[in-house]
Amino acid sequence: MTTLQLIELRCPICDTRFKSQQVISTNSFGGKRTDFHERAAGTQPLPYLIHMCSRCGYSGAERDFTEEAEVSPGLREHVWNELAPQLSTTTVAGSEKYEAAAKVAEWQALDVRHVADLLLRAAWCCVDEADTEAERFFRRKAAWKFAEALDSFDGVAREERAVLTYLVGELWRRVGDMRQATEWFNRVPGEITDQSTQQWVVDAARQQRDCPREWFG
Ligand SMILES: [Zn+2]
Repeated sequence: MTTLQLIELRCPICDTRFKSQQVISTNSFGGKRTDFHERAAGTQPLPYLIHMCSRCGYSGAERDFTEEAEVSPGLREHVWNELAPQLSTTTVAGSEKYEAAAKVAEWQALDVRHVADLLLRAAWCCVDEADTEAERFFRRKAAWKFAEALDSFDGVAREERAVLTYLVGELWRRVGDMRQATEWFNRVPGEITDQSTQQWVVDAARQQRDCPREWFG
């Protein structure tokens, strides 16, 4: 079960104070999909881990609404020009919050890896929103971003490369592009740094290439 509580946040862009729901506890006994999407019982916590300012559309995790948030003039301008005009008056879907947060992270020039994570979470939200088209859109975007992180110098820690390489394969598989999926799955064995702890990644890549499953375990 997921327990939520209302918190008050202050937007670092427009200074608006607004209330948002926050996750206080959750547990995941719903299982884990083969793209690492964990399922909780009942309400899914994911949409409540990101908050969106109701006035300007600035989005991020709770810490992005604290003094720690880095607000450059460039970021401010992007938010007002690109997020504020798109604000809807109805309830904002989890995927929309993650999409906005991914844009904010890009404008803040944060790690590509971090942007990729937000896009992956947008795709996960789409699964719960039963929006297949948007899900594929975000999976594709996440796959490109993770690939960009893997390509960049120091973008991904050495010991994480195998699992992220597998994930890119799995994202392409879920988009329906088996050619790209196979290519990425085949790269996994070459990315292993420790056979004893990472053999499962090699096995998962082989399984998803040859006889795919939707859930782990
Ligand atoms: Zn704001």
